[in-house]
Amino acid sequence: MSNLLKQRRTLGERLWRRVERRPDGCWVFTGYQTKKGYGKIHRGPGSRELVRVHRAAWEVTYGPIPEGLFVLHHCDNPPCCNPEHLFLGTNSDNMRDMVAKGRGNGQYRSGNGQYRKSS
Ligand SMILES: [Zn+2]
Repeated sequence: MSNLLKQRRTLGERLWRRVERRPDGCWVFTGYQTKKGYGKIHRGPGSRELVRVHRAAWEVTYGPIPEGLFVLHHCDNPPCCNPEHLFLGTNSDNMRDMVAKGRGNGQYRSGNGQYRKSS
């Protein structure tokens, strides 16, 4: 029964009740996270697909993500899903952004908000 009720919640409902709205403006997902710090959530109902929470946040706020585009973070905080911190970009934007922000060398820590900015 409780399982059924859970299934009936929309993606947005399930997402927003699992975010911690931090004073710095980031909405940090408190559910399942990958090693890289990206939050993941079941797309449901009826779908077992796991979607990244920042992509889910974009979809429930602004609508479907155009094919081939990525949802990137202004705040460079992977588990953040505040729609105001997200923007669409191409894969090369993503790469450029990563290099510019010095990401990809494991300096970011996920969970408990213990991430550091590189600047
Ligand atoms: Zn943020």
